Parts: sequence; structure tokens; C-alpha cells
Amino acid sequence: MKILLVEDEPKVAAFIRKGLEEQGHEVDHAYDGKFGLKLALEKDFDLLILDVILPQINGIDVCREIRKHNQEVPILMLTALGTTDDKVTGLDAGADDYLVKPFQFKELIARIKALSRRRQRVHEEKIYRVADLIVDVNAKTVIRDNISIKLTAREFALLELFLRNKGRVLSRIDIAEALWDQQFDTGSNVIDVYVNYLRNKIDKNFSPKLIHTMIGMGYVLKEEE
Ligand code: CA
Repeated sequence: MKILLVEDEPKVAAFIRKGLEEQGHEVDHAYDGKFGLKLALEKDFDLLILDVILPQINGIDVCREIRKHNQEVPILMLTALGTTDDKVTGLDAGADDYLVKPFQFKELIARIKALSRRRQRVHEEKIYRVADLIVDVNAKTVIRDNISIKLTAREFALLELFLRNKGRVLSRIDIAEALWDQQFDTGSNVIDVYVNYLRNKIDKNFSPKLIHTMIGMGYVLKEEE
């Protein structure tokens, strides 16, 4: 794979680069957010690895800017910050996954593999219809009651997960594993935050409600109340 690494700490960058190259990947490296963003927009990469705290432009803003132009490329954030807020900020900016420093190299490789697998799955043709909701997975469009609704990449992935599992109760762990290939720390409310974002967009002003809370169990998408 062609990978862009944006990381300002020379030791960390050298460690990641060397390891990825040994695995047969081609790595471009930028030391600051500004140059990283320029490379990301100019060249074609299969994956971006973005540090959060960077000179010039921070990783969150770089990620947000890239997503305005490219919704497809998988983005993995590296963060030394471990609170729920920081995770939500990164994921909400359009990152697909994050890894908290310090991490083991094999953990990085596992995340990269999971992200590239998920990317390959994107290309199946699929349109979902539930009540008056129509979701085109390829065109990334969401229409409810003839109104076009804009979702972030993460919200769209969550909606697609619900649609694929219509009528099935998904636990927070199911959702975390499907969307982020991992479990969140106990007590983390990242999943609830995302489900609420999604509800506000696709359910709040419409009827019938499609996403239902199953107390103590999780969430389910279904037509009946
Ligand atoms: Ca840094």
C-alpha cells in the first residue's frame, strides 16, 4: 500500500516508517500538518496515518480538510490524548480509527489491515429502503421523506451498520467493533454520542422513528415503534 505518515517526532516517525517499509509498504512522510495536507491532497494514498499534535496545522484540522475533498481514503489518527472527548473530536473530523501512543507496532499493523479490509467492502452495490428512508451506499446519499440529509463519514458508517442489521439489537460493543474494530474503554460514551448525532439527522424530524434504544442492551433499527 501507499501510505502517508504525518508525524513530527523523528523517533516515532522513523520507527513507523521502517516497520511499514519492512512490511512492503511505500511510505511518504511529512513532519508538519501543512506539508502533510499538501501531500494528501496532491497524491493518491491507500491510507493516511496522522498524528494529532503537529506543527503548523494540527492533525484534527488536517483530517477535516482532507475529508472535504476525499471521503474514501482511510485515516488512522495517532494520539497521546486518551479522553473520550479527544476520541470523538478525531472521529468526528472524519478519522476512521485512532491509536493511543505509545503502541506496539503489531497493533498498528492490525489496525491498518482492518482499515484496508473495510475499504474493499465499500464497493458492493447497495441501496437500502426502510419506511421513507432511502440510503445509497455507493453514492453516499441519504434521503428521508424526499429530503436529502447530509451525514459525516462516521455517521454514514453507523447508519449502514444499522441497515445491514435491520431488526437486530446491536450492543455498544457490537457497534464499536464493527465501526472501529475495537472496544472502547468501559464507561466511554462514544457510541451513544454517535447514535445521537445520527438520530438528530435521520429521526428527529420524521416519523416513524427508526432507531430505538433497548435499555441495557443497545440499539436497533426497525420500522415499528
Ligand atoms: Ca506530535
